Amino acid sequence: MSESVPAQASRPPALSASSAKQFQQCPLKWRFKYVDKLPELQSPAALRGSLVHKVLEDMFDLPPADRQAPTVRETVDSAWEKVTDGAYKLSEILAQTSEDELKAAARQLIDAYFSLEDPRRLRPSGRELGVETVLSSGLRLRGFIDRVEQADNGDVRIIDYKTGKAPDMRFTGEYVFQMRMYALLYREQYQITPKRTQLLFLGGNPQVLTFDPTDADVSEFETELNALWSDIAAHLQAKRFETRQSRLCDWCYFQNLCPAFGGTAPDLDPAQVEKIAEIGPIAAG
Ligand code: SF4
Repeated sequence: MSESVPAQASRPPALSASSAKQFQQCPLKWRFKYVDKLPELQSPAALRGSLVHKVLEDMFDLPPADRQAPTVRETVDSAWEKVTDGAYKLSEILAQTSEDELKAAARQLIDAYFSLEDPRRLRPSGRELGVETVLSSGLRLRGFIDRVEQADNGDVRIIDYKTGKAPDMRFTGEYVFQMRMYALLYREQYQITPKRTQLLFLGGNPQVLTFDPTDADVSEFETELNALWSDIAAHLQAKRFETRQSRLCDWCYFQNLCPAFGGTAPDLDPAQVEKIAEIGPIAAG
C-alpha cells in the first residue's frame, strides 16, 4: 500500500466549514493547514471516522431489506480497503493502534447508528454530496454533505454523521456553525433552504442534534461568514498569523513548528498566499 502525500486539489481554493472553524480556533494552525498545506498525520480517531462514513455511504447501495446491522457490519473490510488506499503514513497511524481495533470500533459505531435510524425506509437524494458556491460577495464556499433526504413535498433534510460523542448541549456552537454552513451551501446551490439539519453522534450515548434553519438565519450566517473571511483576508494581506493557545494544542500536529511551544514557523511562500487568497475578495488598503 502506498503512503503518498495527499494530492493537491486542482480546483480553485474555497472556504469550508472545517477550515472556517480552524481559523477561529487558531489562525497559525489554519495557515499551516491551508496556506502552507503541510501534510498532517491522521489520528486513529479520524481514520475510524472515515471508515464509518464510507460504510454508511455505501450502505445505501444495498437493497433496502439488507440494510441491517449484521449485513452492514460485514462491509467494514471492503470499506477499509477503500479508505486506506494511499493513506498518508498509514503505518505510523497503525503504530498507535491496530487495524483490528479500528475495525472493531467502527462496527460498534455502526451498531450505534442503527439505534438512531432504520435505513431500510430511507431514500437519500444525495450521499457525500459535493456542494460548491460563490456568494454574491465573491467568497467561494465548498463542502461535502454526508446525506440529503428530500420528502415528497420538497422539504429537504441534511444529515451528517459524527463518530465522536455528542457535546454537552450547552456547548453546541461549533456544530450549529457546521449545520448553518450546510444550509447556506445547499440554499445557494439548489435555491432551497433545508427545513432541517441533523448531526448523528454515534460515540458514547448515541444522540441526534437538530437545527432547523430559517431563511433569515441562513442569510445572517452568510453575513457572518463574509466577516470571517475579511478577517482571514486581512491576515493573508499582512502575512501574519498569530497563535491562539487552547486545550486543542494538545492534539495539534504542528506543535513542533509553533512559536508558542518553542518552534519556528517556516517562511510563508508568497505564491501560496496568492493562491489561497483566490477564495474571496481582499479589501484594498
Ligand atoms: S500548538 Fe496551539 S497555538 Fe500552536 S499552532 Fe497548534 S493550535 Fe495553534
